[in-house]
Order: sequence, then C-alpha cells, then structure tokens
Amino acid sequence: MGSSHFGHGSCDNKKSPLKRPSTPYVTMIENPEPYLLTAGGRITCNRCQAQSSRTKVQCGNPSLTGKRVCKWHGGRSTGPRSAEGIERIRQAQLKHGERTSEAVAESRRMSAKMLYLRDIGDHVGMFEGTHTRGRKPTGYVKLNMNDPVLLRIALLLST
Ligand SMILES: [Zn+2]
Repeated sequence: MGSSHFGHGSCDNKKSPLKRPSTPYVTMIENPEPYLLTAGGRITCNRCQAQSSRTKVQCGNPSLTGKRVCKWHGGRSTGPRSAEGIERIRQAQLKHGERTSEAVAESRRMSAKMLYLRDIGDHVGMFEGTHTRGRKPTGYVKLNMNDPVLLRIALLLST
C-alpha cells in the first residue's frame, strides 16, 4: 500500500454514520424546577427539564421556546423522520390501545349498532319507559322504522 493517509482531494473513506445510544441519552429529572430566574432575578423563564448527565442535577439552562428542554438536551429535535422511527415512537406512546383510531371507530360502530337495535325494539314495542338522553354516536342516522326499506337497512346495520 503506497497511498498516503494525508491526502485531502480524493478521500474515499466513508464516514461511519453517527450511532446513537440505544438507551435515551437525555433523562428527565423527576420533580423539576419549572422556572429559572435570569438577568439578576428580573426575567422568569422556563427551565430545562433534563437531568445533567455530568452533575446528575437539573440542567440550569432556560428551555427553548415552546419546548421543555434546552438545545443541549434535545430541544432542537424535530422528532423522528423515518417510517421505522415514527412507528417506534407510536409504540412507545401507546398505553393500552383503547384510543387508537381503530378502537374508537369500532366503539362508534358498536354504539350505533346498539342504537339501531333499540330503534327496532321500539318499533316492535319491546321496550317501555324513557330513553337515555344525549349525543348519538357518530355514524348513526335516525331511520324511519315505518318505512320497510329503512327498517331493513336498520336490521342490516344492527347485525
Ligand atoms: Zn438542558
């Protein structure tokens, strides 16, 4: 190998992509001090909520506008970009899955179904007494049960 290491022109050394640690590299402090006084006590600003990895106490910098951390603790991050990254954050934020768009849609569908069943029951004189008042589920349209076509639609919707 005769090539020099000090050439600048045709350097084909690929820079290895910066590897981030797999564990979160910024830890949030537990009971953070929300504010910070600067300018000799004349300005109150939001304090960075991160824990300093060096001193293990709360970071003493003001947080960036609209963020809870300073620029050294990830305040300038704009979040995940790649599909895998977005999905990873989605999974990290997911607590029980009862409020996913699918779960909410299913809940709406079931509520509408129960309401159609009640309408049919009312039509055949199955129930007596008053109804529960309030907002009807999204996707429910009151159908006229005296119209046989609409009654059939209600029967289909309630199964
Ligand atoms: Zn900070």
